[in-house]
Amino acid sequence: GSTIGILGGGQLGRMISLAGIAMGYRFITLDPTVQSPSSEVAKQIVAEYNDVDAAHELAQASDVITYEFENVDAGVAEMLVKQSYVPQGSTLLYTTQHRLREKRAIEAAGVPVAPYRVIDGMDSLQHAIEELGYPSVLKTVTGGYDGKGQVVIRNVDQLEASYTELAAHGRELVLEQFIPFQCEVSVITARSPNGEVKSFPISENIHINNILHLSIVPARISTQVQNEARRLAEAVATSMGAVGLLAVEMFVTEDGTLYVNELAPRPHNSGHYTMEACMTSQFEQHVRAICNLPLGDTTLLTPVVMVNVLGQHMESVVQRVGELDQVAFELGIVPKLHLYGKTESKHNRKMGHINLLCKDVQDGLEWVEQTNIWRL
Ligand code: ATP
Ligand code: MG
Ligand code: MG
Repeated sequence: GSTIGILGGGQLGRMISLAGIAMGYRFITLDPTVQSPSSEVAKQIVAEYNDVDAAHELAQASDVITYEFENVDAGVAEMLVKQSYVPQGSTLLYTTQHRLREKRAIEAAGVPVAPYRVIDGMDSLQHAIEELGYPSVLKTVTGGYDGKGQVVIRNVDQLEASYTELAAHGRELVLEQFIPFQCEVSVITARSPNGEVKSFPISENIHINNILHLSIVPARISTQVQNEARRLAEAVATSMGAVGLLAVEMFVTEDGTLYVNELAPRPHNSGHYTMEACMTSQFEQHVRAICNLPLGDTTLLTPVVMVNVLGQHMESVVQRVGELDQVAFELGIVPKLHLYGKTESKHNRKMGHINLLCKDVQDGLEWVEQTNIWRL
């Protein structure tokens, strides 16, 4: 079989590898962590992500290259495109690793984003907030994740401190109007090099402290809004010429208006539910797309609630696994536990997730409530 190289060996690299191994592929990852989550299932080059020699070694060892995170150096990405086969290209990465380029690409597809302004100093922030109003969200254009690198500005007193906090290290910033959403959803769309496009069912996502807590599928929004969300995601994927998975995060307002929040050109936490709940998992779909195989059937097999297991939940989950199964049994739920093999458990670190296969998502939510592990 062919060898697939992955930039990054975290949980996404691990789960791409696990899916691809079942399809006969071999994997090699590039990751700086010695015991990375993927190290048990794939060969690993231990080096910094943007180490040019290591990237060259990855190119030599791989027939196809993909990535599991966005912060790949543009130079490294271009070098890989020249030295190996990178079906996703480097433009998709270049666009999605920068919030302003990403917003412009979304707008170019005719898809709405929250009103925003480019911020290049205190003056421009003052001017922008007069136009967008309070609250607004100030974000660094690069490097943010799990809500790091952003701050909600609720009144004029917070303006200067917010700017000082984020503008440190001379980073570029963007100000977004705060969208008072009814819920957040995401659509994971796959596109292959030949232009075939297929989306997974829409996931409703609940965050705690800006970290994904639950994905609920089917999302509790009208069929009409679900169809519109799918249409927008596919318009963005097609317009960008994306290859592989494109996760599209959106806000849904009370009246059903959709705004795209951000993109991720890779498998996404909000798509982990597909592992047991869909005919094809997002990881298999990503492998299919980058290998130019026909895309798999994305039909939902069962309602599902995915709950993330963070560092602070690990001890309870591991110690009470029998009891958790019992609660699930009583609710008519089948819980599927996935752990990422991370050696060190830290507060808010993603250690695993549980897919709760249920007759109705309400039962899954009841399980989360009853177990008392995810108490706020
Ligand atoms: P991720 O881990 O998903 O990559 P991130 O750090 O890139 O997160 P965003 O997705 O931009 O950050 O924002 C994190 C969360 O903050 C969103 O899921 C949403 O709950 C809230 N948020 C961000 N921007 C806005 C906005 N303009 N209006 C309302 N809520 C917002
Ligand atoms: Mg993000
Ligand atoms: Mg996000």
